[in-house]
This record gives sequence, structure tokens and C-alpha cells, in this order.
Amino acid sequence: MGVGRVIHTTTKPPTSDTRGLVGYGSRGLKLVRGYGAEVEDDAERRYLDCTSMYGVLPLGHAHPEMLHTLREQSGRLSNCFASFGNDQRDALIQELSAALAPELSRFFFCNSGTEAIEAALKLARASTGRRKLIAASRGFHGRTLGATSITHKAAYRQPFMPLIPDVSHVHYGKFEALAEAMDEHTAAVILEPVQGEGGVHCAPAGYLRAVSELCRAHGALLILDEVQTGFGRCGSLLAGPADGTIPDIVCLAKGIANGFPMGAIAVGPRVNAWPAGSHGSTFGGNPLACALARTCLRTLQDHAIPQSVAAAAPAWHAALAAASPERIREVRGRGYLIGIQLREEAAPIQAAMQERGILVLCAGRQVLRLLPPLILNASQRDRVTETLAEVLR
Ligand code: PLP
Repeated sequence: MGVGRVIHTTTKPPTSDTRGLVGYGSRGLKLVRGYGAEVEDDAERRYLDCTSMYGVLPLGHAHPEMLHTLREQSGRLSNCFASFGNDQRDALIQELSAALAPELSRFFFCNSGTEAIEAALKLARASTGRRKLIAASRGFHGRTLGATSITHKAAYRQPFMPLIPDVSHVHYGKFEALAEAMDEHTAAVILEPVQGEGGVHCAPAGYLRAVSELCRAHGALLILDEVQTGFGRCGSLLAGPADGTIPDIVCLAKGIANGFPMGAIAVGPRVNAWPAGSHGSTFGGNPLACALARTCLRTLQDHAIPQSVAAAAPAWHAALAAASPERIREVRGRGYLIGIQLREEAAPIQAAMQERGILVLCAGRQVLRLLPPLILNASQRDRVTETLAEVLR
């Protein structure tokens, strides 16, 4: 597969789908390979992947450096339980801490975003000895019971009641509402710097910094969920600290190892560790995942990829908004976490884009969400914009 314009090359019907899986809708495609920003289905149709599979591939599919590390490290040592030391894990801890913030110097590794959230919630309760958790309207944090409890949308919560107690939700971005909810029982506030699944909404300027100060004043912890926003997606390695916010715990996953399953929490000095053995993960911090995360981080840094996202994003957002001023209400987001708020249902537009060889996501009824690989080039960006304009014409 070459990188370039997406062309449907055959008339063979693509097959689907999600048969035999519990709980997923079907996009009607069976994908069989990917390279860079493109994927190919079983009918040899090629698509520009502006989902990067829900944001897990900052470097795109089958990145050569990642493949090299995968081969090299899997032949050396792939598993090493975290009570044994390991060279890759040690090096990743050093490199992540240096890259994220020197005060985030301790880590817990796991295998997904929801596990990172779960670890952060447990750590916050253990560290503070308090129970209360404050999360935000429209927030999404994952699918385990703890993460579902702090997620806001009723459809994600209702089938699984009762969830964990002592959770409240306040209006995202409204500092006064949060200040009112905060008390001496609050263990932690948990927020996404840009809400992804909830419709792509950015925190107002200064909001996260004010929340971090409020948390400090009350002896509570600030947990930033950077599962979707982290690892360069928003034009910097982390989205939260870009405005001077000091989080106590940062949750990472998705892009951290460019598609290899991995999650992590990075922990600051105000957090006490839980007692040894009270939390853990069999696969967490395995040398293969750690080696891949190191390669992903190094590649992002060596090629200044977050910076190029930050440089390219504003013009692209503006071009997308201009694709159809009549049918697009606004384009929101940061970097390559982009929400296109339509004046109509998003699902038919998503389907029409797919028909024309571009995969995008929805985030709510009227929002198209783009989460492309961060390596997307100018002609690929133009193709997305042109296709959107064509579909909305
Ligand atoms: N937090 C945020 C902000 C997310 O967007 C997601 C997944 O979309 C999660 C947590 C859960 O991550 P995972 O699906 O890896 O469990």
C-alpha cells in the first residue's frame, strides 16, 4: 500500500462486520491492513483513516520504527512482572518524566485507558483517605464500573446501576459550580482538558489552572484524563499543563505506544502511594509495551510531530469550517482532536465520507469527530476538507 490519494480500486463488495462480538455497532467494513494514514478493506478498497482507530495511532499504521522495536524487543524479553526490574521500564520512566514534567516522576502502568482511570480513582481515595469524586457534565472516562461511575452520559451508566457512590457531576468549564461542590470529603476532581467523546469541547482558558489551585486549597487531588488528548494529539505532549496547570495524576493510554495496548498514570509529589500489593496488573508495564512507548515518544520528539500538529491545525480547522458555512455550525477542538458541529445529524455525513474513502467518527448526534494520525500531510488534510465540502454541497 502506498500513501496518497484514496482510490477505490475494486468493485468487489466489502464484507463486514462485528458478528460474534458483544456490544458494538457495525461500520460495515472489514479492515485487513494499514499503512501510514491509510487502511485497506477485504475488497481492496483504501480509506484515509481519520479515526486512527479512536486516536491510538499518532504515528499511523505499521510505522517502520515501531515494527523494528516490536521485532527486536519481542525477541529479547516481552513479559516481566512489575515486581522484577526491567531496563525498558526503567528507561521509559526516566524519559516520560523528563518529557511530561519533572514532578510527574512516578508511574503505574496498565493496559488501557479505563484501567488508568480506575488506578487514578483508587489511588486518589487511598492517598487522601477521602471518598468523594467530582467529575464533569459530558465527561467520558471509560467502561469499567469505576470509570463508568464518573462518566456522565446516562446511556453509558443506566444499564449498569448501581455504580460506585460518592460521585457528583458539575457543569464542565464552570468554575463556580465546581467550587460549590468541593468540600473536605473530596478526594479528587477528574477532568478531560478537551472533552472528546462528549462532543469535543475545550476547557475555557484558565479553568484547569484555577481548578488545580482550588484542589490544592482543599487538600483534594486533580486528575487529568489525557487518555484522548495526550501524546501529541492536541499539539503538545499533554494538553492540560500547556496553560500552567499542575495535575496530581495524569491518565494516559490510546496513543502512548502507537496502538499497542498500554495505559499509564503519572503521579505527582502530593500523592501518597497505595500500600504495595493493594493494586496491580499482570501485563502492566511489560517490556514490549514499554519499549514501544519509548519508540513512540522518541519519534514524536525527534520529528517535532506535536509542534507540526500545533502549526497546521488552526488553518485546517478554518478550512473545515469553510467547507460549508450553511451546514457547519462551528469547528471546535485543539490540534488533531477536531469536532465539526453540524446543523444536522452527523451519522449520514459520516457514512457519505466513508463511501468516498474517508473514515471519520461521530461524537454525539450532530458532531463529526476527526482523530487522524498526527503524521497526516497537507494533501491528505486537503482531501478531507474537499470531501467534506463535496458531501455537504
Ligand atoms: N478516557 C477518555 C477521555 C477516553 O476517550 C477513553 C476512550 O475513548 C477512555 C478514557 C477509555 O479508554 P479505553 O477505551 O482504552 O479503556
